[in-house]
Amino acid sequence: MADIYEQFGVRTILNAAGTLTRLSSAPVRAEVAAAMAEAAGRSVDMAALEAAASARIAAATGAQAGYVTSGAAAALLIGAAACLTGLSRTKMAGLPDAPPDKREFLVVRSQRNSYDIAVRLAGARLVEVGLPDRAAGAGVRDADAFELEDAITERTAAILYVARVGASPPLLDVTAVARKAGLPVLVDAAAELPPADNLTRFIAEGADLVAFSGGKALGGPPASGILCGRADLVMAAALQQLDLDVYDHLWRPPAGLIDRAAIGGPPRHGVGRVTKVGKEQIVGLLVALDLFLREGDGARHARWRAIVEDIAAHLEAGVAPHGIALALHGLDDTGDMPRLSLTLPPDRRGQAADLILAMEAGRPAVHVDQSAHREGVLTFKPVCLSPGDGAVVAAATLAALEATGLGDAEASA
Ligand SMILES: *Cc1c(COP(=O)(O)O)cnc(C)c1O
Repeated sequence: MADIYEQFGVRTILNAAGTLTRLSSAPVRAEVAAAMAEAAGRSVDMAALEAAASARIAAATGAQAGYVTSGAAAALLIGAAACLTGLSRTKMAGLPDAPPDKREFLVVRSQRNSYDIAVRLAGARLVEVGLPDRAAGAGVRDADAFELEDAITERTAAILYVARVGASPPLLDVTAVARKAGLPVLVDAAAELPPADNLTRFIAEGADLVAFSGGKALGGPPASGILCGRADLVMAAALQQLDLDVYDHLWRPPAGLIDRAAIGGPPRHGVGRVTKVGKEQIVGLLVALDLFLREGDGARHARWRAIVEDIAAHLEAGVAPHGIALALHGLDDTGDMPRLSLTLPPDRRGQAADLILAMEAGRPAVHVDQSAHREGVLTFKPVCLSPGDGAVVAAATLAALEATGLGDAEASA
């Protein structure tokens, strides 16, 4: 019988581009898929399931509490909502038209990005701080902690921080400023795994809430993510995400996630209700989190490294005669991701886009990282590939090189 995608007339792709949402994120492991299938066939109380998830996530992150969301963006939305409302049911009902007197989130200007729409959707208004001289190549500065401190007003509700290697100012300096002002820090760490240490690092550095993507290297379902942090804020986020169309006197939320006495009664449907998450996503994420921790950075890095080395080995003979250079990157640091770059000869750089389109139109279709294609570079990433895929990816790449007149498939190993 045709596989499920063939039945719907859709062909699958080999994804060497990385965990892109538009390419369906990373395929989940068999154990995750099996757990999701089993979970999908049963009924469960969603709040009870999220309470169980909270305990697991707390253990993995060192946070007081956690919550499984439909992605890191969803985690940012409900995390921002929590920062805006605290445990006020009136404020929850008011979002996204948050109290106009206290809805501003400070953010370092260089950290603005397309995903911060999630924070704005909750009702927050972003106020930019700093001047990214570094990004412009005009200087060395970006933003300093004192600039954030001086930008705090009575309208400031929180600080949004986007975690990245080299982010400035360091998170520790930002949380110190925030703590002094009594403000929460919401950290977008969506793509900061691995290294696995980052699961605990941002919490340890004083973040009040941290968002991770489940569908990236963590290996969870594409529509999954984690919000973890302070118990009161996670509770406020949960209250604005769960379906709470319930009678007050019949509401018995799980104590491990929701302190009924602290909230008084159920709020109405919150702003996070649009980020509904399925039970199978929650179960899949928890199983993936466990596998991610058990595999460890070293074994994961070795598995990924073997895949890109395999692609390189199968490409070598076919590309070398045509002046196409291969290079492996990220091999030394087990917290980094091994990658293979293919660089076209200087006079053929303009054909990188043709090559990409030929690969995507090929059989099988192969997608690569396009971010350096204007420099004639295609990058192969291993996260969404399986150990056996290297030879197939290489053969499809050589066929596309031949089709675009850049190489010949015959010389392939
Ligand atoms: C991928 C990403 C997100 C969104 O993650 P999802 O899990 O797809 O919602 C948010 N912020 C950053 C910085 C990201 O890289």
